[in-house]
Order: sequence, then C-alpha cells, then structure tokens
Amino acid sequence: MRLKKNMKRSSARICTECKSDIPRGQKYGQKTKSIPYKQTSWTIDDRPKEEIPDWAWETVYFKDEFDFCEKCCIEKGWVA
Ligand SMILES: [Zn+2]
Repeated sequence: MRLKKNMKRSSARICTECKSDIPRGQKYGQKTKSIPYKQTSWTIDDRPKEEIPDWAWETVYFKDEFDFCEKCCIEKGWVA
C-alpha cells in the first residue's frame, strides 16, 4: 500500500482502526472494502406480505473506501 498525504481541507479524515483524526498534511492509507448486503428482486411495492423466502434474496456487494492513519498502516504491515 502506498500512503497518501491528506490534502483534504474541509472534513477531517478519521482512521477506521483507531478512530483518531488524520490531520491535513499527515500521511494516511486507503483500503477499499466490499461490503455485502442482501436485496431481493422485488421492489418494496411488489413484495409479498408474508416472509420473503431465502431463495429470493441475493447478496450484492458495494465498495467503500476506508482511511487509516500512518501508525495503523504500519502496525498492520501494509507499509514498510
Ligand atoms: Zn489509526
């Protein structure tokens, strides 16, 4: 992983791991995670009133980016 420099002026970045602020000018790392969630092919209005059977659910993934401070990246062995 390559660390980037936090150039964001407005909202502070927060380390996903230790929850500390990553101040502007500080190095940080980013990881993309795929988060699974379940959805059905029905829209809310078409949905049967009774409980939705297991087969009707499918798992889809959406990707989200997470920020980590330099210290956590090192501790996790992502950077040398
Ligand atoms: Zn951290």
